[in-house]
Amino acid sequence: MKLYNTLTKKKEEFKPLEEGKVRMYVCGPTVYNYIHIGNARPMIMFDTVRRYFEYKGYQVNYVSNFTDVDDKIIKKAVEEGVPTTEITKRYIDAVKEDMKNLNVKPATTHPLATQEIDGMIEMIQTLIEKGHAYEKNGTVYFRTRSFDGYGKLSKKNIDDLEAGARIAVSEEKEDPMDFVLWKPKKEGEPYWESPWSEGRPGWHIECSVMSKKYLGDQIDIHAGGEDLIFPHHENEIAQSEAANGKGFAKYWLHNGFLNIDNKKMSKSLGNFFTVREVGAEYPYEVLRFFMLNVHYRSPINFSRELMESAKNALERIKNAVSNLAFLLENAPERALTAEETEFYKTILEKKEKFEAAMDDDFNTADAVAAIFEMVKAANTSLTADSSKQVIADTKNWIVTLSNVLGVDVDTKEELLDNDIEKLIQDRQDARKNRDFKKADEIRDLLLEKGIILEDTREGVKWKRA
Ligand code: AMP
Ligand code: ZN
Repeated sequence: MKLYNTLTKKKEEFKPLEEGKVRMYVCGPTVYNYIHIGNARPMIMFDTVRRYFEYKGYQVNYVSNFTDVDDKIIKKAVEEGVPTTEITKRYIDAVKEDMKNLNVKPATTHPLATQEIDGMIEMIQTLIEKGHAYEKNGTVYFRTRSFDGYGKLSKKNIDDLEAGARIAVSEEKEDPMDFVLWKPKKEGEPYWESPWSEGRPGWHIECSVMSKKYLGDQIDIHAGGEDLIFPHHENEIAQSEAANGKGFAKYWLHNGFLNIDNKKMSKSLGNFFTVREVGAEYPYEVLRFFMLNVHYRSPINFSRELMESAKNALERIKNAVSNLAFLLENAPERALTAEETEFYKTILEKKEKFEAAMDDDFNTADAVAAIFEMVKAANTSLTADSSKQVIADTKNWIVTLSNVLGVDVDTKEELLDNDIEKLIQDRQDARKNRDFKKADEIRDLLLEKGIILEDTREGVKWKRA
């Protein structure tokens, strides 16, 4: 399995630190607003990476934080005249709901920056002790030049960076490239006690500390959007490696940006969409499927046209699956014919093609193409006379591989309205015959499928949970 490592600028064979296990950290959103469809890209793409590792039999420890202390959060709280915690709770709940809708699995741990302040103070103290950080008037800075490898991720040279940096007259830093680890509070801001001042941590230290706490000093994969390469991830490497005296992440994965109609998404251009806005127009699974059609490192362009075509493409897979489910009902149980054995080989080839695509730096676009080839083969070759085994296995592969991408194409499990009405009638009949046990069983069965019954004076009403 190969993945492209931003650190080495090469595709490398994946070798985990520990056999059969993956330790993975993905920088999460700052929670002051509903997430936009750009933020959804790393969530969906790295969730797909996780799912593929799991499909391959790895045990994945997946950590993704919420940055719940930040200038933008404070600004929003002041605007609304509410405590910052009210803002962060509201938007963390909203992100979790969006993730669920996008079929993004919850992380193994979702740490909150505000709950990890002790660990941050501890790491900052270590950095000061080791000479990698210093305090001035209550602010603590990282001494960037004290870390030899600075610039190794972003391929920037510290002298070039410094030449481009502006030095403010009142600057208390020793060097313009030094960055903040701890800063004193301003009036009315949330703060924590520390040896240096009542204040709060800088953004970069959060991730170094949360990654260390939940995954250990060294991890396999650190991921996020490409805008985070510099300075955020560069600074994380400097902090973690200087404090722990060990290499930090082995592989750095970065997703490309999402643009709208080939333009940068921005509020001022009026082409800014939240996940919810798009979710009101299209099923959420279409947004996920749309993202999968482009390799995660390439830029992706969002447009209604492309969403429409993603919607139709997804529909085609679902139709094929429901057709196979229909064929399955009366399919003959018998040994495979010679043609069926050949067909079986074709299906397995497509499955291998899917895996080869994913093994090649998670090429989801080619993986989707392999699923389509399977669908096409099924549509042209399988009929009501095909053997039950061949139909069942083909359906199973299409559903399983789609699930690896986080897309549920098996609609058979869903009860159709007609089936529900029929079961409700059966329950009424059972009640009339005073067979309350059976009536309760039907009610429970429906509940299991997410159907809630309500007995009203006008009769039984039902709704989906
Ligand atoms: P933020 O809340 O700005 O820190 O962003 C959370 C995550 O979304 C980070 O991994 C960003 O790199 C990523 N991100 C932000 N905007 C975009 C975009 N337009 N396209 C792709 N990823 C983005
Ligand atoms: Zn981070």
